[in-house]
Amino acid sequence: MEASISPKEVKEKGLLIIYTGEGKGKTSAALGMVYRTLGWNKKAAVIQFIKGKWITGDRKFAATLPQLSFSTMGEGFTWESQDLNIDKKAAQSAWEKAKELIKSGEYFLLVLDEITYTVHHDFLPLTDIVSTLQNRPKDLTVVLTGRDAPKELIDMADLVTEMKKVKHPFDQGVPAKQGVDF
Ligand code: ATP
Ligand code: MG
Repeated sequence: MEASISPKEVKEKGLLIIYTGEGKGKTSAALGMVYRTLGWNKKAAVIQFIKGKWITGDRKFAATLPQLSFSTMGEGFTWESQDLNIDKKAAQSAWEKAKELIKSGEYFLLVLDEITYTVHHDFLPLTDIVSTLQNRPKDLTVVLTGRDAPKELIDMADLVTEMKKVKHPFDQGVPAKQGVDF
């Protein structure tokens, strides 16, 4: 640690957190921290880089919390077409929103849910994500979720947890469950 950093700065330093891996719990762990942040009357934001076609408990509850900014990629887009360019444009517009929230300096916690998916599909340049995160406000904690987190992001993160599947009911043919999975 650099000698020039005061204990107060260390305490207030925002973290870069990554939840990755094949097991369940990545998005729910990130949302658990949103819950804690709001409990301390600090501002939190979530951007989901997934198509928001299905209603989820996450989004329903978020709609009741004015202090939480919650958006899902593709609001205002038509997904009927299988055109990959539409996915790309939606991902880019969600990323522009993320950059605005980062720049605003208003937030304590920002969750970029499933952002790894946009990198694997070449929707967003990894270099832009890396530099934006490096240049974020010092006290902003950012949580990235998604399978197969790129090495460049893992290298720069302060905390990385890889969820490991030991069992999942899906393997026994049990479908996704309200309140547990969505
Ligand atoms: P959650 O949102 O429940 O925290 P997650 O973010 O870790 O899960 P994702 O990869 O985003 O997992 O997948 C979302 C959905 O897929 C959830 O409904 C989850 O239960 C399910 N899921 C997660 N891991 C597995 C797995 N290993 N096998 C089958 N389904 C899974
Ligand atoms: Mg998830």
